[in-house]
Amino acid sequence: MKNSNSSQLFEKAKNYFPGGVNSPVRAFRSVGGTPLFIEKGKGSHIWDADGNEFIDYCCSWGPLILGHANEKVLNAVDKTMRNGTSFGAPTRLENELAELILGNNPFIEKIRFVSSGTEAVMSAIRLARGFTGRNKILKFEGCYHGHSDSLLVKAGSGLVTFGNTSSAGVPESFVNETIVVSLNNKKAVEEAFAQFNNQIACIIIEPIPANNGLLMQDKEYLQFLRDICTKNGTLLLFDEVISGFRVGFTGAAGHYGIKPDIITYGKIIGGGFPVGAYGASKEIMSKISPEGGVYQAGTLSGNPVAMSAGIAQLSECLKPNFYKDLENKTNKLVNGLSEFKNNDFKLFSIGSIFWIAFTKQEKIQTAEEIDGDSMKHFRVLYHHLLEKGIYTGPSGYEVGFMSEAHTDEDITKTIAAFKAALQEVK
Ligand SMILES: *Cc1c(COP(=O)(O)O)cnc(C)c1O
Repeated sequence: MKNSNSSQLFEKAKNYFPGGVNSPVRAFRSVGGTPLFIEKGKGSHIWDADGNEFIDYCCSWGPLILGHANEKVLNAVDKTMRNGTSFGAPTRLENELAELILGNNPFIEKIRFVSSGTEAVMSAIRLARGFTGRNKILKFEGCYHGHSDSLLVKAGSGLVTFGNTSSAGVPESFVNETIVVSLNNKKAVEEAFAQFNNQIACIIIEPIPANNGLLMQDKEYLQFLRDICTKNGTLLLFDEVISGFRVGFTGAAGHYGIKPDIITYGKIIGGGFPVGAYGASKEIMSKISPEGGVYQAGTLSGNPVAMSAGIAQLSECLKPNFYKDLENKTNKLVNGLSEFKNNDFKLFSIGSIFWIAFTKQEKIQTAEEIDGDSMKHFRVLYHHLLEKGIYTGPSGYEVGFMSEAHTDEDITKTIAAFKAALQEVK
């Protein structure tokens, strides 16, 4: 595979950006080699700077549930931006996107638009603290919630620990407000509530953890979290930046039928533009400025161009069988590769999310169960897949995404490419 243009662009980029990129995983460090510079995308396919064509299962890390350059999204964006790109004043498009979401989601009554998933979660944490008057938050090892200070925390070595910072530049004092426990562990959560009675503002979880492998939790565990929160006056925060509008229009809350107190969204909600959001009951949302005392603002929040992309995309998601079709396609891919299961190769999936893993285990529910050593197989597989025209996120800890644009033919090709690549890995 020719990659001289990408290589040259990357050499240049290294002069401009730390590590040559504007977000770390793009640098290909976990798979080795040179990141591909992408020139264009259409439907399920992307083309790089050397003219190589790929079937894309990264889909910009999830936002592009309709695939690349969807005509309906492009038309909506084009029409909107010709009337101006930003006003810093309310527009009717914000109402329209909010109506579309709130009118089809029984779990939240009011919403606030922001500009990224990180910003949504950071604001939602502030809201949880402002609403409860408590400072501590409880998170799970293996869940990603963006890069705000209090969430860049990883578990220490005990059952219930204040984490260690997972980034330089995060003050110890922030970390001391974040309790980190393992997923799928009731005892740890009970212990945390016993130790920090009346101090925990919220439990934050990715109800479908999909940023560190795909660590499916049991419904019963999520219900346990719901119950222990209710009992202790703690808010349950579902971070649905990745699962929202992905496993169904109402995300994981709808999938499991569990009502959290606050939900955060991102990725799909903006149709490929930078949008995040958080929502909750009217009562909880009334704490947000200018109604309440929890401050949160944004120059480009509710940006009209981004809103119109979100409206166009989510309108498609609401069509009958939209999610069923995505799931069927994903199942076709997973089933097409089931014969490799006994080679320790697994494709775990839910809806249109799948995770490529090398493991003997039939189920992986915690970060600790992921064998870091197995990533060496992923690294080899990754480059064979690229050679065969299949692009996924360049890390074995990342999941892949099926879009509406993926065709049966794409999937057939993908299965064949995987089979050949897996032979080579062996
Ligand atoms: C992607 C993601 C975020 C961060 O969103 P950004 O838009 O990258 O800031 C937060 N939480 C979850 C669950 C995510 O998947």
